[in-house]
Amino acid sequence: MSVGLVWFRQDFRLADNPALTAAIDQCDEILPVYIHDSREGTIGQIGQATQVWLHHSLQALHESLTARGSSLHVLAGDPEKILPQLAKALEVRGVFWNRCYDPVTLKRDKSVKKALDGFGAQSFLANLLFEPVKTLKANGDPYRVFTPYWKNLMHLLPGNLPLPAPRKIPTVVLKKTAASKIKSLQDIPLSKLELLPELPWADSMMTPWAVGEAAAKKKLARFLKTEAKHYNDARDIPSIQGTSRLSPHLHFGEISPLQIIAATFGKRRSVMSLNVGEETFVKEVVWREFAHNLIYQFPHTIDKPLDARFEKFPWAKKYQPQLTAWQRGQTGIPIIDAGMRELYATGWMHNRVRMVVASFLIKNLLIPWQEGERWFRDTLVDADVASNAMGWQWAAGSGADAAPFFRVFNPVLQGEKFDKEGDYVRCWVPELSSVPNKFLHKPWELSPIERQGLDYPAPLVDLKISRKAALEAFEAIKTSQK
Ligand SMILES: Cc1cc2nc3c(=O)[nH]c(=O)nc-3n(C[C@H](O)[C@H](O)[C@H](O)COP(=O)(O)OP(=O)(O)OC[C@H]3O[C@@H](n4cnc5c(N)ncnc54)[C@H](O)[C@@H]3O)c2cc1C
Repeated sequence: MSVGLVWFRQDFRLADNPALTAAIDQCDEILPVYIHDSREGTIGQIGQATQVWLHHSLQALHESLTARGSSLHVLAGDPEKILPQLAKALEVRGVFWNRCYDPVTLKRDKSVKKALDGFGAQSFLANLLFEPVKTLKANGDPYRVFTPYWKNLMHLLPGNLPLPAPRKIPTVVLKKTAASKIKSLQDIPLSKLELLPELPWADSMMTPWAVGEAAAKKKLARFLKTEAKHYNDARDIPSIQGTSRLSPHLHFGEISPLQIIAATFGKRRSVMSLNVGEETFVKEVVWREFAHNLIYQFPHTIDKPLDARFEKFPWAKKYQPQLTAWQRGQTGIPIIDAGMRELYATGWMHNRVRMVVASFLIKNLLIPWQEGERWFRDTLVDADVASNAMGWQWAAGSGADAAPFFRVFNPVLQGEKFDKEGDYVRCWVPELSSVPNKFLHKPWELSPIERQGLDYPAPLVDLKISRKAALEAFEAIKTSQK
C-alpha cells in the first residue's frame, strides 16, 4: 500500500485541489495534514481576525474530509522538520501541496522541498490562475501596469476547467510500528492552536460570515445569479451588497480563482461574451492575480515602496494619537469612521472605503502606509500579504500602477458621491443618525446650536490644510532619483 501525504496550507477545499487529486491518483492511502507554524512564516504572522477565520476554516475542512471517509491531522511546529519525519515514518510515495507565492512562504517551501529529497515532493498551481513566471511581457520583464497585464491575460480566459472534488479519500491505516515512530508527531486538537482569542469580539465579528468550501460555493452561486449583472455600478456603493465578499474565502483557498472564473463564464469561451458586470468582476479577480505577481517579482514590496523615492518621504514623526483615532473610527470624518468601525466589527471593509481611509491616513495624516497595512493585516478576515501591500502602495502612490500622489481623496466628496443617502454612515456611526443628509458627511458645518448634543468628535485635521501639506511633502521627494 502506498501512502501520499497532502499538506494543506491556504487551499482549504477538496474541489479544484490539484495536490489532493494527484495524491489520490498516485497513492493508495492519503494522510491530509495541516502544520501550524506559529514561529515564523506568513501563516505564523497572521493577524487576529485571520486567525479566527483560520480556526473555523480548518474545522470546515476537517468536516468535509470526514464526510469522505478521511480526516484532517493538525500538527504544530516546523514543517521542514515534521514533514520529512512523517514521510520517513510512513514510507510515503509522495508529499503533495499547492504553491503559495509570497516571499516568506516561497523561501520556506524551498527548504522543505530540499529536506524531502527522496520522498517525492510535488507542488502544484492552484491558488492563482497562471504561474507568475508565465505572465511576463514579451521582453521577459514583469508587468507594472494593470491594463496591459489584463489585455495579455484576458485572451487566456477562461482557461482550464476546475477539477472535481474526489468522491472518496482513502484513509491511511497506520501500521503499529509507524504509529509508535510518529508519537511525537501526534495530532493536536484544533483548540490547542489557540487561534480563538478570549474576547467576545471574535464571535460577534464572525456573525455575518459562513466559513468553508460549501459556504464559498453557495455565496458565489448567489452572487452570479443576483448581483453580478449590476456589479459595475453597485460595487462602489458601500451600503449595499454589491460585491461578492469572496475575499476571505479566496485568501484561505476555500474557493479557487479558477472556480470563480469558470462559474462566471459558464459555457461562454471569451471575455467579450460576458456582460459588463461580469467582465468587471473577472477583472477584479485578475487584480488579485496581479497583486500576487507583484510580490513574486518584487518581494521587497510587502513592506517597502516599489518607487524608491518614497523611502525618503517626510512622514509625520509623532502620530500615535492620530493613528489610534483612525483605528478606532474616531477621526470626526464620518465616512472614515464608518469604514474603520465596519472593519473592526466585521473583519471586512468595502473596497471604495478601503481606498478612502487609506488615502486619509497617508495623505491627510502623513502616517506611513505600513502602519495602515499592519492594522488591516490584524483586523481584516481577508488580510492577504499581496493584495494588502498592493492596496496600500496604490493609495500611497508608491506601488505599481498606483494612484498619483497628488490625487488626494476628499472624504466628504467621496461620502456624498458613494453614500448619497447616508445609509452607510448612519449604520456605522449611529451618533450621526439624526443629522440631515446635507451635513452628514461634514457635520462640522452644522451651526453650533444644531451641533449641541451631538456626541461626535471634531475633525482630527482640516482637510484642505492637510491636503496642502501632503502635496508639499510629495514635492520634497518628487525630484529625487527613482
Ligand atoms: C488599502 C487596501 C487594502 C486592501 N487589502 C486587501 C487584503 O488584505 N486582502 C484582499 O483580499 N483584498 C484587499 N484589498 C482589495 C479589495 O478591497 C478587496 O479584495 C475587496 O474589497 C474584497 O471584497 P469582495 O470579495 O466583495 O470583492 P469583489 O469586488 O467581489 O471582487 C472579487 C475578488 O477580486 C479580488 N479583488 C477585488 N478588488 C481587488 C483589489 N483592488 N486588489 C486585489 N484583489 C481584488 C478579491 O479577491 C475579491 O474577493 C485592499 C484594497 C485596498 C485599497
